[in-house]
Amino acid sequence: MSLSHSQMPGFGIYIHWPFCRSKCPYCDFNSHVRERIDHGRWRSALLAEMAHYARDTQGRAVSSIFFGGGTPSLMEPETVSALIQRVRDLWPVESDVEITLEANPTSAEIEKFRAFRAGGVNRVSLGVQSLVATDLQFLGRQHDAAQALAAVQMAASTFDRFSFDLIYARPNQTPEQWRQELDRALDFAAGHISLYQLTIEPGTQFEQAVARGDFRVLDEERAAELYEATVERLGAAGLADYEISNFAKPGEESRHNLTYWRYGDYVGIGPGAHGRLTLGSDKVATRQHRAPEAWLDLVERDGHATRQRDPVPRAERLNEMLMMGLRLKEGVPLARIEAESAQSFAQAIDPTRLKRLIDGGFLALDQDRLAATQSGRQRLDAVLAALIT
Ligand code: SF4
Repeated sequence: MSLSHSQMPGFGIYIHWPFCRSKCPYCDFNSHVRERIDHGRWRSALLAEMAHYARDTQGRAVSSIFFGGGTPSLMEPETVSALIQRVRDLWPVESDVEITLEANPTSAEIEKFRAFRAGGVNRVSLGVQSLVATDLQFLGRQHDAAQALAAVQMAASTFDRFSFDLIYARPNQTPEQWRQELDRALDFAAGHISLYQLTIEPGTQFEQAVARGDFRVLDEERAAELYEATVERLGAAGLADYEISNFAKPGEESRHNLTYWRYGDYVGIGPGAHGRLTLGSDKVATRQHRAPEAWLDLVERDGHATRQRDPVPRAERLNEMLMMGLRLKEGVPLARIEAESAQSFAQAIDPTRLKRLIDGGFLALDQDRLAATQSGRQRLDAVLAALIT
């Protein structure tokens, strides 16, 4: 069984910039607010850690580079271009390489778009989050809807491709309000949009606010209604739900994220970055030190700040691959299940559990792939718990 080229996982480079202007109350990412940042030190350290990982992966062709965070649009454009150039020096790079930078739509960041473009960035992903003024305040954002839409237009005229994010299932949000907001967003969207359901993560300000009773999260039924409205509205506009929270026109999917979901290899550099590397018959999980200043000191001392570098056990490889792959509408090729688990499909997946989930309408199996149905993707955690031990 073989995969077509377009469904082969790529090889990506992820670069984490851990700083933001302020901390959003819903955010559990590795992001920090600092008065001063020594950009020269950070540039040198990120370049050094990249060179460290290039030794393990020499000759692999890079299909995507992703600047995530934090807020990488706060990086100096010289740092971004130096890192892109260093990728080109260290690895062969595919001719249609996708180079994405996440950005927040404040004016200071928009002003840097041209310089990012000149440095090689060809795609931006903007954190718009809402087009409703009161909800932007609730989400602790530092921009208003007009600024966000101006940033989207600037992105459209500067980069080959762009995407933006919205967060839905906000307190008291009705399907009708969400449809109206989506329609407005779709007037500005091009080939890709990410729509995330608001979740309350441990350790966030929102967790405390919910505990205090400041607001209540939407109940599951209403959230499911909003998800269905989302899939229907986006589908009618030609953007398919290729992943639970991501919608794209054909060919406009995020190649970098597809590498994660297809369980491909990626190098992760910067504080707290994770990586997955196939080395021999092992799939090696890597993780960098999380705290920014300690990461910087370690890289300056040792050339890298690796905290974990362990082969993923076979059973865990199967679980990780299913957790990622079943998020995708295309599902998981049976060949990949067999390769990652080193077992036949029937050995890797318990037939009784599988049948129960297929009969329930949550999974679908054909000759060469296993996929979650829309209903299965909507409750994927429960489906995975019922599928894997
Ligand atoms: S800007 Fe993004 S990464 Fe930074 S705190 Fe807000 S949500 Fe988190």
